[in-house]
Amino acid sequence: MTANGKLPKGYVRLKDGRFYKPKTGAYVGGFNAYYPNRRVNRIQISHYAMSNDVFFEAILGHELIHAYHNHIGLRDTYGSGSFKLYSENEAHSFSAETLKPYISRSNWYERKYNHHVNIVNQKYMYDHPAFTNPFQ
Ligand SMILES: [Zn+2]
Repeated sequence: MTANGKLPKGYVRLKDGRFYKPKTGAYVGGFNAYYPNRRVNRIQISHYAMSNDVFFEAILGHELIHAYHNHIGLRDTYGSGSFKLYSENEAHSFSAETLKPYISRSNWYERKYNHHVNIVNQKYMYDHPAFTNPFQ
């Protein structure tokens, strides 16, 4: 795991520690890169995500879910398209559930929670591939 490594193509580090992709306007708390030949996952967590314990748990847990899914062979078995739908659904659901108990604390937590819930509802829920959740 690293915080200062080279970012994926198109991403920059903002002064506040966030990872940002100017072309799409997307802010990202962390990345997971999988190297199938070595069966290694490399996780990067932004300094911004490390600045808050709850948010850190939501982001690190999200990336560890991808790493676990890669490790047990879901990407190799189902291909990167289905893998992405499935793994992102699970990972964003985890992030949302981690943030949920804190939304009454402040608007900041509520915005983070809503971000992950919206991604699950808009992008992944309706296209969920038809294989079973290994965590259930
Ligand atoms: Zn993800």
